[in-house]
Amino acid sequence: MTTSAPRPLLPLEEALARLAAGSAPHRITATEQVSTFDALGRVLAADVTSLLDVPPADNTAMDGYALRTADVPAPGAELPVSQRIPAGVVGRPLAPGSAARIFTGAQVPPGADAVVMQEQCEALAEPAGTHSADAPALGRVRVNVKPAVGQWIRRRGEDVRQGAVVLARGRRLDAAALGLAASVGAASLTVVRRPRVALFSTGDELRMPGEPLPPGAIYNSNRFTLRGLAQAAGCEVLDFGIVPDRLDATRAALRRAAAECDLIVTSGGVSVGEEDHLKAAAAAEGQVEQWQVAMKPGKPLAFGTIRRGPGDGRGAAGVGGAAGQALLVGLPGNPVSSFVTFVLCVAPVLRVLQGRPPAGPRPLVLTAAFDWPRPDRRREFLRVRRNEDGALELFANQSSGVLTSAVWADGLVDNPAGQAIARGDAVRYLPLAELIGG
Ligand code: AMP
Ligand code: MG
Repeated sequence: MTTSAPRPLLPLEEALARLAAGSAPHRITATEQVSTFDALGRVLAADVTSLLDVPPADNTAMDGYALRTADVPAPGAELPVSQRIPAGVVGRPLAPGSAARIFTGAQVPPGADAVVMQEQCEALAEPAGTHSADAPALGRVRVNVKPAVGQWIRRRGEDVRQGAVVLARGRRLDAAALGLAASVGAASLTVVRRPRVALFSTGDELRMPGEPLPPGAIYNSNRFTLRGLAQAAGCEVLDFGIVPDRLDATRAALRRAAAECDLIVTSGGVSVGEEDHLKAAAAAEGQVEQWQVAMKPGKPLAFGTIRRGPGDGRGAAGVGGAAGQALLVGLPGNPVSSFVTFVLCVAPVLRVLQGRPPAGPRPLVLTAAFDWPRPDRRREFLRVRRNEDGALELFANQSSGVLTSAVWADGLVDNPAGQAIARGDAVRYLPLAELIGG
């Protein structure tokens, strides 16, 4: 295939289906045992099952008095206080006709069937001489309400039952999940090895910040954006820097990257111009399809596999499920296109590599606070952000080179091909935080 024969556009759904199917054989099977303390962002490779009931025993949700409801038939009943039970102390069975002073989290003593919060009680001093030195004064209590059976008691196992799966394999561990794992006593967790993602940027015009910028040059922003996205997705990033716009250099970079990673993500050089070498290089080093995806920003995308030479790098045992090949996704060079195609097309690949379903966050249906009278014939992903009313404002310049739009935005409107938007319309909104971190 040579230059600019018009190609049919590939629907994004179809591209995503091919990406997921092509990634599945590369699922990472290697696992690691990590301390629960350090497992934030990792993906579980095995279910977490509880070895105990949580809470392990009935306990009080309030500071107050544990008692038998039968001993308080009406508000105003007075009971002697027979014991004091702080959290961490196990009380004795509750003496008949008495109350136990009790503090939040402490186990409810056998015999008690309710807790009355201290605000609804009055502690009364006991008359002098009614207790001895070895039975210190606990006084009496007046209960000013009629308690209901079970009130303020957190039941054994009401959070988690022994034997229950509390976290399923494939789940990405967030802070709440770590807490839950800890609550069932899991000191370490079996997680999927982090995906190793090799990145390089193609483009003779690219310079690094800190270098002078000669005429015709621009700073390499994609290197930073894509690295950040891959890190936020929980990957180990191998950075191969800037690769010149030459076939031999691109081939060499692909070879070196494939030896060490599960997935190569490149930016630029993926169109069909004379200076675009990614497709030819990838075809020489493996297999590749070049797509024109019906999306904006975006469109040119390459997907394939790159062979690992025998004895390359860490070898087939260390990387990738499909021995002998690394996956390749070639992204367009325009900064916003790179960003959007990563979150929409590479993130699902990373999920599949880690044994998760490919689907990203579900869109929210929100109200447009803008007009979009001239939609594209491609499905568009508009940079928007929520205003104080929860409606969506549009960033004025939606050009794929304008990276400020991606910084300003908190989400993307997924707008169907050819559909105009008028203020007040319901639109589909994808939160960037979930696209990136989910
Ligand atoms: P390409 O996909 O290589 O044709 O690049 C498309 C546009 O994106 C051109 O204007 C490039 O200068 C720009 N571009 C390509 N790579 C990068 C990069 N790493 N950082 C910033 N802009 C880039
Ligand atoms: Mg280029």
